[in-house]
Amino acid sequence: MTRGRGRTAQFTPEVRQQFLDEVAAGATIKNASTVVGVHYNVPPRRAQTDKAFAAALDVAKVRGRQARRDGTPHGESRYNHLGCRCGVCRTAATAGRVGRRTIRDGQVLDLDTARESPTSFLLLGPSPQTGRIAA
Ligand SMILES: [Zn+2]
Repeated sequence: MTRGRGRTAQFTPEVRQQFLDEVAAGATIKNASTVVGVHYNVPPRRAQTDKAFAAALDVAKVRGRQARRDGTPHGESRYNHLGCRCGVCRTAATAGRVGRRTIRDGQVLDLDTARESPTSFLLLGPSPQTGRIAA
């Protein structure tokens, strides 16, 4: 590396590998970039010109997605966002939908008056303890 001309190379092979490891562990591009100390536009830009890096990044992203999936507990969020259709996720998603429908059908949701009322209707939801809607 010559001194005094151009920018210092920050995204070195070592840093690239560290970045890929972070992504494969489930970090977002932005978070992985922060961890290795480069701006988040650096890795995608590198991938545009470096085919090997682009391929490695694709593999890391797939692994990262899997890692995030494995780390997400079964429930409504996993049903909605990760497409899990196991019994636990289905039950949670159904319960969530039923709860929201009950609010819609049981209360008059008038946006104009809701804005003026002391407690916004939009904030009302089933109590996590009882599953009932606060009166
Ligand atoms: Zn599930």
